Amino acid sequence: MEQTKLAEYKNKLEQERLRLMSEIKQSEKPQNFGDDVDEFEEKTDEAEEIGNQMAIAKDLKKRLDEIDIALSKIRNGNYGLCEKCGAKIEEDILSLSPEAPLCKACRV
Ligand SMILES: [Zn+2]
Repeated sequence: MEQTKLAEYKNKLEQERLRLMSEIKQSEKPQNFGDDVDEFEEKTDEAEEIGNQMAIAKDLKKRLDEIDIALSKIRNGNYGLCEKCGAKIEEDILSLSPEAPLCKACRV
């Protein structure tokens, strides 16, 4: 892969990484449960809300992991190769999601 392309993807990954870190921080902030917890309805809403937030945080962390893996591949010089078959990952995939670990054929 061209060095300029590689630098571009690396830059994208680093930007995305920073964005995710701040989103994760945001989603892990302690929630304000309010004072009137004796209302059943409200309790249910809050439980649901917390469940949603945990799911979101989990997704964010998974994405962060993928980005970390991609960045370590750049450092090791094997970035852009499919994890399954070892072929080059198509540029149109990488330009959309530079952390993609699989080529088109293996994604299906
Ligand atoms: Zn593949």
